[in-house]
Amino acid sequence: MTILPVIPTSPDQPDAVPTRRRPSMPPRHLADLDLAARKAAVTTLGEPAFRAKQLSTHYFGRLVRDIDEMTDLPAASRARLTDDLLPTLLTPVRELACDDGATRKTLWRLHDGALVESVLMGYPDRVTACVSSQAGCGMACPFCATGQQGLTRNLSIAEIVDQVVYLAGVAASGAVTGSPPRLSRVVFMGMGEPLANYPRVIEAVRRLTAPAPEGLGLSQRHITVSTVGLVPAMRRLIAEELNVTLALSLHAPDDDLRDELVPVNQRWKVAEVLDAAFDYAARTGRRISIEYALIRDVNDQPWRADLLGRILRGKLAHVNLIPLNPTPGSKWDASPKPVEREFVHRLRAAGVATTVRDTRGREIDGACGQLAAGELTEAGAGGAADAEVAR
Ligand code: SAH
Repeated sequence: MTILPVIPTSPDQPDAVPTRRRPSMPPRHLADLDLAARKAAVTTLGEPAFRAKQLSTHYFGRLVRDIDEMTDLPAASRARLTDDLLPTLLTPVRELACDDGATRKTLWRLHDGALVESVLMGYPDRVTACVSSQAGCGMACPFCATGQQGLTRNLSIAEIVDQVVYLAGVAASGAVTGSPPRLSRVVFMGMGEPLANYPRVIEAVRRLTAPAPEGLGLSQRHITVSTVGLVPAMRRLIAEELNVTLALSLHAPDDDLRDELVPVNQRWKVAEVLDAAFDYAARTGRRISIEYALIRDVNDQPWRADLLGRILRGKLAHVNLIPLNPTPGSKWDASPKPVEREFVHRLRAAGVATTVRDTRGREIDGACGQLAAGELTEAGAGGAADAEVAR
């Protein structure tokens, strides 16, 4: 593991002693707005309308997040625009790298002291950003570090987008050795339940996929939204006609066990949640990704593999098995490799495409369920989330 240079934080926010403030939404930022609203905002501030495009080109086109680096803007305009359209939303607290620099985790402090994390993962053919959609999470999955923490608040559209723009800038700087310089994928597998912050996550996706300078110009297909299975929100997502990839965190094929592993299952059962997921696949033509963390002697029995195989057979779905990344103090562990292999074998024998996710970033607690923002709070709060959907 490499600890990258610690970025100095301001004296009123000492690095190791985060203040506990009441969570509150951040100030407005240009990434909260579409191009038309940005134009309206700059004219309200007494600037010509073309400034909106100029700012947007810097931010989304050139990945410049600091107004002081936008030197073609008159100093007076910069001073006027910064507070209203480019306030600092994310202050880096720590950056860690591992896998020879191919995986990098950033811990951020938000304006109200809340902590979230993002992870950048480089591969020979692509670079993926794993971002947070909430500070904490209210879904309470017992094997997930963020699940233990509870929900602090939703992130704003711009707090989500700014994580991606920052990581795209890191990729563009060539810091991810052995990978292309262009960030191409985003997975909502950091802290939080994206569909519980629905309108902001959808708007963030629109911003990420709008062509520059309105947005970042990523392909919808290269964005993955991962959910515990909030059925009404999944149905709403179908109606958006966005071609994003949907990942469903299933973790058990039967209600008895899923009620425990993913407590929201007590509200929306396996059959109902899969129905919504299959409808999403049918509408978009996009294969859904069934996430399944293999937990030793909990959900890794051969009969559960067979049951999962029967449920998914012939559907537009593939299974992404995740070796459990045990959270500190957890009674659960990953399944032994032979058990994992048998699980894979049974699913494939049932005709279900199955992959095992790589365990990228474990060394820096950047892997599934382990984003460790909570370590800094000394309150035992975890951070969540994830690495990427393996192919
Ligand atoms: N709330 C969303 C996104 C969060 S994390 C969701 O649940 O889908 C992304 C994935 O990491 C989810 O599939 C989640 O269940 C999984 N995960 C969480 N903690 C984990 C752990 N300790 N080990 C392995 N996977 C974990």
